[in-house]
Amino acid sequence: MFPVPFAGAPVLPLLEIDLMKNDDGGPAVLSYFEACRAEMLEFTRGLVEQESMSREADATRQIAENLGESLASTGAAVELLNDPHYGSTLRARFNHGNDESPNDGQLLVVGHLDTVWPIGTLADRPFRIEGDRAFGPGIFDMKAGVMLATFAMRAIKELGRATKRRTTLLMTCDEETGSHFSRDIIEEEGGRAHAALVLEPPIPGGAIKTGRKGVGEFELIIRGRSAHAGNDPRAGISAITEMAHQILAINKLNDYGRGTTVNVGVARGGVLSNVIAAAMSHLQPVIDGARIEMRGGINRPPLVRTAKTGALFEHAKQLASEIGFELKEGSVGGGSDGNFIAALGVPVLDGLGVDGAGAHAEHEHIIISDIPRRATLLTRLIESI
Ligand SMILES: [Zn+2]
Repeated sequence: MFPVPFAGAPVLPLLEIDLMKNDDGGPAVLSYFEACRAEMLEFTRGLVEQESMSREADATRQIAENLGESLASTGAAVELLNDPHYGSTLRARFNHGNDESPNDGQLLVVGHLDTVWPIGTLADRPFRIEGDRAFGPGIFDMKAGVMLATFAMRAIKELGRATKRRTTLLMTCDEETGSHFSRDIIEEEGGRAHAALVLEPPIPGGAIKTGRKGVGEFELIIRGRSAHAGNDPRAGISAITEMAHQILAINKLNDYGRGTTVNVGVARGGVLSNVIAAAMSHLQPVIDGARIEMRGGINRPPLVRTAKTGALFEHAKQLASEIGFELKEGSVGGGSDGNFIAALGVPVLDGLGVDGAGAHAEHEHIIISDIPRRATLLTRLIESI
């Protein structure tokens, strides 16, 4: 079942990946994860059942505290970085025998603890298993990814394996709302990283993400003029009507051929916020006397597939084939905390979570049988980069 020993694999000079360490280890790691598959699923259920919507500070602090205890038991030095509005981002440092080496040149593993689901969603849509699929709010994006990293670090400790570099694990609490609190922490750790691995879900089907377009967030403020709708309707300028015109204009900016996607996400009596690319600044009011004002801009820069990223992907692909599956790559829209790190010139592999589908949707689920091999891939990446 595990035909290829790691010692024979090519070494990629761009990243000086060390395939000689743990050269008999791939099979041992996979059987470790096959053996604790039920435990990994149970741990995932535990994470799903700790609801942690972005901006629910108490909830994200609680899940960070609980996860911190699990990680501390795998030998990590754990810190919680707290914010009154967003809760706690968790930072865990692992030495794994590299006591002499500084954190400069570290391997950074990034995930997020927050979800898009309001507290109480779980009551309507509890964790459940149907055949090979496990469902639950936030399971695909990305509590299964958080579980993978936790078990990867445990496997490295329990199997007595070596890593080439120090590893820092960062679990942010505000990714789904733009990482306004965690961005500085991500960039500080990313700036000292040799490479970064991001635990976001893969593209459904399992491909990891080596390119992402980036994200902008804009707020459009529309001002009309109030008047009594019954006594003096002609004196009024309806901001709501103007907003309707603007929404249609914004939707026209969608250009799938060029990869531009625009979405009006929230509309409230005269106030509108959305997520898009650049042409926003050309919007003009349609109704005489209405005024519009644009706020916001690009939040997440693009994640560009560089030569280093390509080398890192080839390495991951090689490791996957040794584990027994074909790893594909793709470029997708949106962004993650990996975009901030890629912008610093650090190679990033995104989408290393468990296969599934339905991020931010009600059918959100993971594929249970994908768990052991993804955990093995992540562990092999962490120890060999
Ligand atoms: Zn995510």
